[in-house]
Amino acid sequence: MESFYQHEGTLKWALLLLAFVIFALWETYYPRRDLVASTARRWSSHALLSFLCNTLAAWIFRVSAVALAAASHHGLLNRGAIPFPVRCIMAVLLLDLLRYGQHYMYHAVSVLWRVHQVHHADPDYDWSTSLRFHPGEVLLSQGIYLTAIVILSPPAAAVLFLELADIAQNIFVHANVALPQWIDAPMRRFLITPDMHRIHHSVERSDQNTNFGTIFPWWDKLFGTYRRHPLAGDRMQVGLDEVGIKQGVSLLGMLTGPWTSYNSSRGESTYVQGNGSQEGNQEAQEKEALVKSL
Ligand SMILES: [Zn+2]
Repeated sequence: MESFYQHEGTLKWALLLLAFVIFALWETYYPRRDLVASTARRWSSHALLSFLCNTLAAWIFRVSAVALAAASHHGLLNRGAIPFPVRCIMAVLLLDLLRYGQHYMYHAVSVLWRVHQVHHADPDYDWSTSLRFHPGEVLLSQGIYLTAIVILSPPAAAVLFLELADIAQNIFVHANVALPQWIDAPMRRFLITPDMHRIHHSVERSDQNTNFGTIFPWWDKLFGTYRRHPLAGDRMQVGLDEVGIKQGVSLLGMLTGPWTSYNSSRGESTYVQGNGSQEGNQEAQEKEALVKSL
């Protein structure tokens, strides 16, 4: 079993390559939406940004989550009384819930939104959007994740499964593809689909404050942040109003995004108004009614 973990890097690269081939071909021949920016420019900027983030994270943390879990023996889930399969299921659910909570906070707290908005500033939406995260977000998220591994001490096999599922799911939900409705609807009961996560990348603020999940849709449904359709329906636009296409595809624009493209009208107070307050809900309901009447 131990040697299985030693192939973690190879497994991740193989899966990434496989997912890239499948979704890049699928998007090319059956795209869900027309793209507005140069694909070559976006893909190369996103690949360079991802390479920079991964190199930085590997240099700073020096240990993978799987290796840390394998070496950790004194966490909340490392109890002999809990059967191994139950510990695995609990680990996968708790770590996915952690990602949900973390993503929610990236939108709710002004300073966190500064780094997370780089992910949302993509003027298009395709598999490469899954590579687009600011180094500040990657380092903070990885630090939180590794801390959770130490606290929980989950089975290494469960962490490896989750890491591989994350890679596949991250590319899948960001892909510029559409599943037939008869597949999408039942799939959303247990897995987030591209049409569901794309709503989170809408330019509409109230759409952005929904569908935060990574793998399972249950947390959004449980905590009232699930949205089935975008406010503007099929006319939904992705990206951020405050970031133009030129800045949105530039690597320098992504790296400096937290300081240059930050919209100061956003923040904790405006977030609450746009998502949960009566006023925000009323505005959303009025827009929804308008969309339905068209
Ligand atoms: Zn987000």
